Amino acid sequence: MRHFRSRRGLTLEQLGSAVGVAASQLSLMENGRREPRLSLLSAIAEQLDVPVAELLDESAPSERAALEIELERIQETRLYRELGLPPLRASKTMSDDTLRTIIGLHQEVERRARQAIATPEEARRANTEQRIVMRAKNNHLPEIEELAEEALRAVGHSTGALTHRSVSQMAERLGFELVHVGDLPHSARSVTDLENGRIYLPPASIPGGHGLRSMALQAMAHRVLGHVAPRDYAEFLLQRLEINYYAAACLMPRTQSVEFLQQAKADRNIAIEDFRDAFGVTHEAAALRFTNLATEHLGIQLHFLRVTDDGAIAKVYENDGLPLPVDLTGSAEGEIVCRHWSARRAFDRTNRTTEYYQYTDTPMGTFFESTQIGTGAADEFSITLGVPMSESRWFRGRETQLRVQSTCPDLNCCRRPDLELSGRWQGRAWSSAKVHAHIFSPLPQGTFPGVDDRELYEFLERHATQQ
Ligand SMILES: [Zn+2]
Repeated sequence: MRHFRSRRGLTLEQLGSAVGVAASQLSLMENGRREPRLSLLSAIAEQLDVPVAELLDESAPSERAALEIELERIQETRLYRELGLPPLRASKTMSDDTLRTIIGLHQEVERRARQAIATPEEARRANTEQRIVMRAKNNHLPEIEELAEEALRAVGHSTGALTHRSVSQMAERLGFELVHVGDLPHSARSVTDLENGRIYLPPASIPGGHGLRSMALQAMAHRVLGHVAPRDYAEFLLQRLEINYYAAACLMPRTQSVEFLQQAKADRNIAIEDFRDAFGVTHEAAALRFTNLATEHLGIQLHFLRVTDDGAIAKVYENDGLPLPVDLTGSAEGEIVCRHWSARRAFDRTNRTTEYYQYTDTPMGTFFESTQIGTGAADEFSITLGVPMSESRWFRGRETQLRVQSTCPDLNCCRRPDLELSGRWQGRAWSSAKVHAHIFSPLPQGTFPGVDDRELYEFLERHATQQ
């Protein structure tokens, strides 16, 4: 209103008397503090000689107006009010550059305030909270199971590995085309162009291309689950958990998976390697999916660990009482597991084509564990699925004679060096530490945590103009 009013050279009083409203009332409306009735809005539009729709349009009528609106928005924020600065009106004599500078400075203040929220400590705290919530739900999300089964039914998928073709059809039903490109932003796993209905994914030929179906499904999951840009780290983590869950529930659908696993249980021959091969997924994906279904549908409590070759936990789920190493906040990621656990002993084995089995005695009881070693882009890791000893009767490998003692968190278990050795070497050696890639490093701040806005928009622009 203010933009069109000044363009017509009218004061508040002049416009007010023309439409029969006090100038102070009009001012409130211009500042967004009061909404006019439709009849008044029509009268104003007529006086200003613009269609009513122009006044209702949320986009700014000019760059100057956009700056003025942004200045107003800023002053409405709690952050600005906390600064205790006097209110600032965008007078006519204030240049566009002055406005840009004030706005730019404040946007930086906002950016820094947001960044402060996403500290590694905050991230770890949010992650721990999420693990506790999921533990209470047995790592099972029935609503997402339903959505996945619905989507699969719609494309007629019933059994075995989900094909790329079916995944493409699922995308089409959502109004998207899957496009494989070699120049995705470095910070993004996939990019969705909502305007042109495309999901961009890495090229099909990259090593380990089996992850592509999962990535496409994860990108679609954001749409299916109605996600909006996350406001904080906890929401970001929850969305990531949900899209992973949805993708896994599509690749290993509940009905067929539970049928498969119940049969394996009846045969006393549950093995993650078989579950993996039946659905054509990675060992890690199969083990994680098993945690979604085992407690709910098979009545089995369990633990899952992804451990890197230096012994640090990268991913973990547990509802069977395994004594996990945790820091003071209860966070387990990045902590080192006992060197006697299956997750670490499996690295010593030369034959890594099959699962490694052992029983582990801990202060919280004995567990049966099966571990598979995998190789990532930069390192090796182990995937472990374990259950309390009483549940081992359902699993392949239970006849193993390997039984190992672990007394961790007792430091004498595997942390404290042998007295003789420390006497021999103390003060006679020096070593330089590997910098441990932190699991929750602060994320670059953009609309989507972790994704570089500039790279993202440049990428979209580049491809949207290509046909
Ligand atoms: Zn130990």
